[in-house]
Amino acid sequence: MLKVAKFGGTSMADAAQFRKVHKIVTNDDDRKFVVVSAPGKRFKEDNKITDLLYLTHAHIKFSVPYAPVFKIIEERFNSIKEELNLNINLEHEFKVIKERLDNKCEENYIVSRGEYLSAMLLADYMECDFIDAKDVIFFNYDGTVNRDKTHEKLTEVLNGSRRAIIPGFYGSYPDGSIKTFSRGGSDITGSIIASAAGADIYENWTDVSGFLMADPRIVKNPRQIKRITYQELRELSYMGASVLHDEAVFPARQAGIPINIRNTNEPDNPGTIIVGDDEKAYESKDDDHIITGIAGKKNFTVFYIHKEHMANEVGIIRSALEVFDDRGISIDHIPSGIDSFSIVLPSESVERITHEIVEELKAKCKAESVHVHKNLSLITTVGIKMAYKPGISAKLFTALGDNNINIRMIDQGSSEINIIVGVEDKDFEKAIKAIYDAFVR
Ligand code: ADP
Ligand code: ASP
Ligand code: MG
Repeated sequence: MLKVAKFGGTSMADAAQFRKVHKIVTNDDDRKFVVVSAPGKRFKEDNKITDLLYLTHAHIKFSVPYAPVFKIIEERFNSIKEELNLNINLEHEFKVIKERLDNKCEENYIVSRGEYLSAMLLADYMECDFIDAKDVIFFNYDGTVNRDKTHEKLTEVLNGSRRAIIPGFYGSYPDGSIKTFSRGGSDITGSIIASAAGADIYENWTDVSGFLMADPRIVKNPRQIKRITYQELRELSYMGASVLHDEAVFPARQAGIPINIRNTNEPDNPGTIIVGDDEKAYESKDDDHIITGIAGKKNFTVFYIHKEHMANEVGIIRSALEVFDDRGISIDHIPSGIDSFSIVLPSESVERITHEIVEELKAKCKAESVHVHKNLSLITTVGIKMAYKPGISAKLFTALGDNNINIRMIDQGSSEINIIVGVEDKDFEKAIKAIYDAFVR
């Protein structure tokens, strides 16, 4: 058996958490490769090291002295080192980093140092190998991962190690400079390493006992999901159930490696297992809820385009899409009717150009009218079993109606494993609770 274990920010937040990680890893000889995040929050008002590093970069960019912010970072790492009695020469590491900050202002390099130092500390504490992610995770210049080169190198390096700690979140470009994934990207590093190592399981250790049926900040004590398919998980994490980075699913899934979400603070809880999409894998699901989970995001904008006899016209939707495509803006949903269709996308991508887009849509589609609705929330209700059962939508709409929540948009994913509704941002939390109560309680 071979396990790859990734520990997130809260699991690395201080010396006490490092001790838990040490115990979890050494408890099981199969946990050979360990990927770590930068120290996260120790309590609600605390700062994540990565946020402080972004702040350091902002100081340098705007020529404001960065030393005060960097000092907080140094203190966080120093206190872990001291409490654990480690020998690592952190002063030297800080010196190297600061020299580089004084010469060049490279955001990717700066923000990657949280993971780098976190992994250095853990490797020292656990007395095992440190593998720098820049030497094993390779990016192409377009920002995608060079899978072949990464796999080849990882296989070689991992083969030579009995146990190794690897920083998450970053790798390198062909010229050796540092490149990071998007926020939360250590999950992706873990998945890539699990796939290259041919792991039997990819364990993702965090601060919740697995995936919950709804965001615990909205629904009180939501039930734990025991098994979920990759596809369901993708739908949920894309819509904000942010336990796992939504791209982290691919490498493990392609290699057929199950992902296990576990809680560092409750290591005996088996957590959530993410399994193959085939129905077989799902038959063993041991709870009988028709839905698997609910997730959602606020702040979408809808462009509502009306044109009579639109259904007879070829290419009208394509013309509308070109308006966004020309600006490199991607679209989330296109629900359509007979004489109208809508284009739904995150508000932030069109905030400053809404009027310009309306005018262009009118002209290009020769539309009778184009309306804009802002402040729309999208909520997805996901469940692979939903496709085979009638009456689900009716139940969902009734639940929202009974709670006086106006539905502004409805869209069913083509895979039929989810139903998406759009509601006003002000109704977001209320709607999630209503759906949860209708299907789960
Ligand atoms: P890490 O730092 O370990 O990577 P994250 O903060 O990225 O952890 O992810 C874990 C968090 O995801 C939880 O603390 C919880 O607040 C949040 N979360 C959002 N939706 C869900 C959900 N459906 N189930 C469990 N946790 C969720
Ligand atoms: N530390 C990085 C972040 O905060 C990456 C990660 O934790 O996965 O986004
Ligand atoms: Mg995370």
